[in-house]
Amino acid sequence: MHAPKVLEIKKIIKESDTVKTFIFDWDMDSQEDKVLPGQFMMLWNFQDEKPMSISLIDPINGEIGISIKAVGEFTTSVHALKEGDKLGLRGPYGRGFELKGSKILVVGGGIGMAPVSAFVDYATWLGVAVDVVSASLTETELLFVDRMKNSGAQVFTCTDDGTCGFQGFATDRVATLLENNSYDMVVSCGPELMMKGIYDMVEDHHIPAQFSLERYMKCAMGLCGQCCVDDTGWRVCVEGPVFWSHELKMIGEFAQYRRDASGTRLSF
Ligand SMILES: Cc1cc2nc3c(=O)[nH]c(=O)nc-3n(C[C@H](O)[C@H](O)[C@H](O)COP(=O)(O)OP(=O)(O)OC[C@H]3O[C@@H](n4cnc5c(N)ncnc54)[C@H](O)[C@@H]3O)c2cc1C
Repeated sequence: MHAPKVLEIKKIIKESDTVKTFIFDWDMDSQEDKVLPGQFMMLWNFQDEKPMSISLIDPINGEIGISIKAVGEFTTSVHALKEGDKLGLRGPYGRGFELKGSKILVVGGGIGMAPVSAFVDYATWLGVAVDVVSASLTETELLFVDRMKNSGAQVFTCTDDGTCGFQGFATDRVATLLENNSYDMVVSCGPELMMKGIYDMVEDHHIPAQFSLERYMKCAMGLCGQCCVDDTGWRVCVEGPVFWSHELKMIGEFAQYRRDASGTRLSF
């Protein structure tokens, strides 16, 4: 499991101007390689390794997908690859989302849609009613909307500039949905301040919720301590990246600060 598998890129899907999905064949029958929505891989371009969520799990075709937003050196180098080129995948790692209840609200912001979209596929496939708030800066950056609609989810788009759906913050759209619906659970991934807004609301409504956190990761297998959070010391790569609200309550740095590669605090 901890040795990277060097795999051919089977297919590349251009999701938006900045995001591409890379599809790989994956052995779904192997217990060791079993992937769950919310888990992540360490992606190796033969120079560096970075954590990336699994955005697509297709047991029928035996494929997984990794959706990457080009933001810096590593991600730009992966965007330059072509179908047939190779990448290393190490994992899967971390604790994924748990499915509880029969009516669920999923909230994703930006590239945070990656892990939650795999969860939407999984939950709808099991017959669970899923509402999704998919948020981005502008219409052309909305991710996986058709895929999630085809899976049977009800999708509410939300853009900062009003080019598609509700104009404004995802948290405002979520507030209305929480007033008018009765959800058994909320699942979210996106900018941490967005997740804090959702966390506060679900606490007020007494709805169980799971959130996927991002912290700087190096080993991803719980040894190096790089992604430990204050005040619990939990390793986001092992105990997370998905945490329930009652666990987030104990993570003092949530929505306050994170650490860079050298351990220096960076405020949100
Ligand atoms: C559990 C997890 C899941 C993720 N899933 C996705 C995903 O599905 N799609 C996606 O596009 N991005 C995802 N990311 C973020 C992704 O790892 C960074 O965007 C990537 O490492 C940036 O590398 P870079 O060299 O292109 O950019 P840089 O310029 O080096 O960094 C850009 C940003 O990425 C952060 N970053 C850089 N290296 C790491 C690292 N080793 N660990 C964590 N953050 C880092 C930096 O702190 C900075 O905020 C995930 C991160 C984590 C922790």
